[in-house]
Amino acid sequence: MLFQLVVCFDASSVTTEFNVLLKQLDQSKTSDSMQFEETLKQLNLRQHRMSANQKEELAYLSTFTVIRKGDYQTAVSQLEKQFDDFQSLKVKTRISLTLSNLYAFSGNYEQAYQSLKFVTQHIESIEDEALKAVVYLAIANTYLLTNQYESSIQFSQLAIGNDDPIVHCKASAYHLAAQVKLSADWLAHGEKLKAVEAECLEVDQFIVVELLKISWFEQLLKNNHKNYEASELRSILTELEQVNRLDGSQVLKSISLLGESLKAKIYWYLSDLDQAEQVAKQVTKSPQNMGDNPARIEALRVLKDVAHERGEDDVAFEYLSQLTEIESALLKENQSKQVAFLNVEHGNMAQLLEIEQLNKANQVLQVEKKLASQKALNQKLVVLLLVTVLALLVYGLYRMKIRHGELESLAEMDHLTKVLNRKGLEEQIESFLSDSKSEAVEIHLAILDLDHFKSVNDQHGHLTGDWVLKHVIYDVKKLLDSRMLIGRLGGEEFGILGKNLSSKAMDERLELIRESIAQLDCSASDHDITVTASFGVTSSELSGHTMQMMLAHADLALYQAKSGGRNQVVRYHYLK
Ligand code: GH3
Ligand code: MG
Ligand code: MG
Repeated sequence: MLFQLVVCFDASSVTTEFNVLLKQLDQSKTSDSMQFEETLKQLNLRQHRMSANQKEELAYLSTFTVIRKGDYQTAVSQLEKQFDDFQSLKVKTRISLTLSNLYAFSGNYEQAYQSLKFVTQHIESIEDEALKAVVYLAIANTYLLTNQYESSIQFSQLAIGNDDPIVHCKASAYHLAAQVKLSADWLAHGEKLKAVEAECLEVDQFIVVELLKISWFEQLLKNNHKNYEASELRSILTELEQVNRLDGSQVLKSISLLGESLKAKIYWYLSDLDQAEQVAKQVTKSPQNMGDNPARIEALRVLKDVAHERGEDDVAFEYLSQLTEIESALLKENQSKQVAFLNVEHGNMAQLLEIEQLNKANQVLQVEKKLASQKALNQKLVVLLLVTVLALLVYGLYRMKIRHGELESLAEMDHLTKVLNRKGLEEQIESFLSDSKSEAVEIHLAILDLDHFKSVNDQHGHLTGDWVLKHVIYDVKKLLDSRMLIGRLGGEEFGILGKNLSSKAMDERLELIRESIAQLDCSASDHDITVTASFGVTSSELSGHTMQMMLAHADLALYQAKSGGRNQVVRYHYLK
């Protein structure tokens, strides 16, 4: 076939042949590196006979040699230059999409959305259905990478209707990955996962399959790892090993790093600190050109936890600072505004596109409507019956809801200390934060962690430990201001939330609590025990209105309190 290409002088068939090869190159760019490199070589040799547009497409696709190795810096600068130099709208669109995905993966959200702007401005002029599908897929991927799952679902939905099996595989995979992240009963998607995996394997999209597997395991571990047997965790490790076996030939660097960071986390769960550290360090070292990607962030978390477990507080603090810096950068105010703005813009666009698709389906609907009207008469009786049943059902549900409400408030209590548990506390934090946005009041969040509490358990036994814990929290509750509330974050760590009070008032109250704990009389336990606590505190003014950041910053301040000698209150300050 290729030989024929050389001797054949019919211009139009050469053009078609090149297009076929370019399509092959495109389809293998993230799946089959041998085929990719081979096709690339063939095309490069015949470049002089290509049209200008084909040359541009070839140059764009060539950058995937660098991308699959993970050298994102080089890839980005090549692509940016191509974007400026090239004429073809199609190629420019694709360049913007790839740039957007690379930026998103490297944690550069602002640039990721900026790159999409070019695409959204031109999207209406794109007639080519195949290109449209590529556009939707890439936008869905950017949203997936920047944790905007609803938008990711909207855009992958738009591509799912496409007949191309590779497009369909990717669209279903992104759709599923976003659903798994979003939905509370994500475990119910297990069957669908298998189906999408099988579908994607059919068209050799190994990377998509690996990505799906990794997201699934991530979710499993996030929710359930405490209930896992070591053997189950080890079997996940074995599955992840397979991702690495693909490395080099079939897997992208970015995917293998995600797999590695997950492995590090599993070793940590298995209490294999050395292995966890070794694998995590490897992850933080290797992607020098990939920015602050999610694998790196996860690996830093593992390194922080390992150091803390070993009692190396200085090292742990160092990692926590790096993490906080990354997370702060992601949440810079102007950036989140940008994200919010573009999100609205894209949301509208997705709706318009959906309406367009619906209109096409509308003609079919008209016919269906006619048929339906004939049946309508018969259905009236059925409807009457249904209404009665529904009324009964609603009443039943109403009764159940009242009962459920009672149970729910119990479910939100911590049995030992009789304060809110983590779930309840998190709900309160979220609701305080959403109030604070509309009412412009400041929220304070402190983390209280008992000092050397492990040694209380070690010296006097766990039951005495429990007693002390109860006693301390009983004391703290008495000292809380009416504008404060407390909940158990886990173990001997508690969150104290303050609303509508100044930083000074909050700090003074915490200081009072700290002193009271240090002077607490524990003689009733029949043991000679003194107990102290350290506090890290931050405010929404400094940390922004997200629970995640407030907790991270309060935790950082707590580390400072611990390494500064414990038994003290430290307020979070910007590190730089
Ligand atoms: P420090 O925080 O000062 O660094 O030292 P620590 O000894 O308190 O260390 P860490 O916070 O890591 O350990 C917490 C210990 O608290 C571990 C566990 O033995 C104990 N603990 C956690 N929850 C409970 C509980 O419900 N009851 C009892 N008795 N002990 C608990
Ligand atoms: Mg402690
Ligand atoms: Mg602790």
